[in-house]
Amino acid sequence: LETSNLEVFDQFESEVRSYCRSFTTVFNKAKNAKLWDTQGNEYVDFFAGAGALNYGHNNEQIRAKLVEYLMKDGITHSLDMATSAKEAFLLRFQEVILKPRGWHYKIMFPGPTGTNAVESALKIARKVTGRSTVMCFTNAFHGMTIGSLAVTGNTFKRNGAGVELHNSVFMPYDGYFGAEVNTVDYIAALLDDPGSGVPLPAAVILESLQGEGGLKAASADWLQHIARLCKDRGILLIVDDVQMGCGRTGSFFSFDHMGIEPDIICLSKSIGGYGLPMAITLLKPEIDAWMPGEHNGTFRGNNLGFIAAAEALSYWETPDFEKSIIRKAQIVRSALEQMLKTYPELSGELRGRGLIQGIAFKEDGLAERLCKNVFEQGLIMETSGPCSEVAKLMPPLTIEDTTLEQGLKIVAAGMARLAN
Ligand code: PMP
Repeated sequence: LETSNLEVFDQFESEVRSYCRSFTTVFNKAKNAKLWDTQGNEYVDFFAGAGALNYGHNNEQIRAKLVEYLMKDGITHSLDMATSAKEAFLLRFQEVILKPRGWHYKIMFPGPTGTNAVESALKIARKVTGRSTVMCFTNAFHGMTIGSLAVTGNTFKRNGAGVELHNSVFMPYDGYFGAEVNTVDYIAALLDDPGSGVPLPAAVILESLQGEGGLKAASADWLQHIARLCKDRGILLIVDDVQMGCGRTGSFFSFDHMGIEPDIICLSKSIGGYGLPMAITLLKPEIDAWMPGEHNGTFRGNNLGFIAAAEALSYWETPDFEKSIIRKAQIVRSALEQMLKTYPELSGELRGRGLIQGIAFKEDGLAERLCKNVFEQGLIMETSGPCSEVAKLMPPLTIEDTTLEQGLKIVAAGMARLAN
């Protein structure tokens, strides 16, 4: 493909820009699971805005609501004032998400990004427990601010802070020492040993499946053990569902049907429905402890986000959407299984759940080569893992079957090129 010129970005944008270095062209149009660049080249999207576009680019159903709202001169910016758009979202979230689960959470709007949701969760946990340490896990990714980065395992990202980060203690995630070792026993032993030097944390923060950390997944059994460990010791359990939530793994929450009910849940990315910046932090009512104004911010209520988010929730009113995700996930899974069978010399392992699936290569560099290679053939996908060892397939959940097959064919052709 002949890609378009990045000169302006090279000249004027900070060196920290990163995705434009993997996807070296200028995009200007998108529809559901496809993007086009200024040269008119078409790309299948297996990246989905890192999980922010679960309902696809320019979703027509959601766009209709946004256009209607804009044409009626709806409020766009309102700090955290009460607006009809926010009211609609609050009601829809109760009705469609919380009520069917029998769950009671207060909804907090922490700011526009996933990092804001994580930061607010860490902060309220400190306030409620009066403790400052947070327990987190190997390979975790929770964000880029000082607090959220302190609970992120990736050394490269941590180096972005320049100097040491504080108030976190890392523990082995499920499977860290192999399938036979239950790391919860190890964690419990350290917490209960007065000689271990491990302080009682305010909270444990985890992802049920590590999106940036190499698609490592926790089992329901492990999550339940962690939840019990927290409950028995007065530690708050925070689940960061920023990337895995909003249906990515097949159900709205990634930990649905896993027998846990966290004290705090962080959502962002696709909660804004249309790729609009929005985040929510769900708090058990008893830890909703801030005084009015004690945690403030200018962009904590994007009304366009509320309109889009309220409409996006209609996907969850029937089981059909979940079924379609699982069906598409099976298509992806069997295509990847076939690829690994065809090219055993690449010795990969399949990881993931629902519509986030990945090939973990044993040799570093192969996943990056695959992503570069498929980009040249018109497919966008990214790597995951501390050594970028996993090629991660994450299409919009609304992807058409034909586009899914088209993208998988490009991946298969890319694998063939890697093998030769
Ligand atoms: N938590 C997780 C699990 C994430 O995957 C991300 C983003 N990749 C974040 C937090 C941070 O979200 P944001 O980039 O919107 O700040």
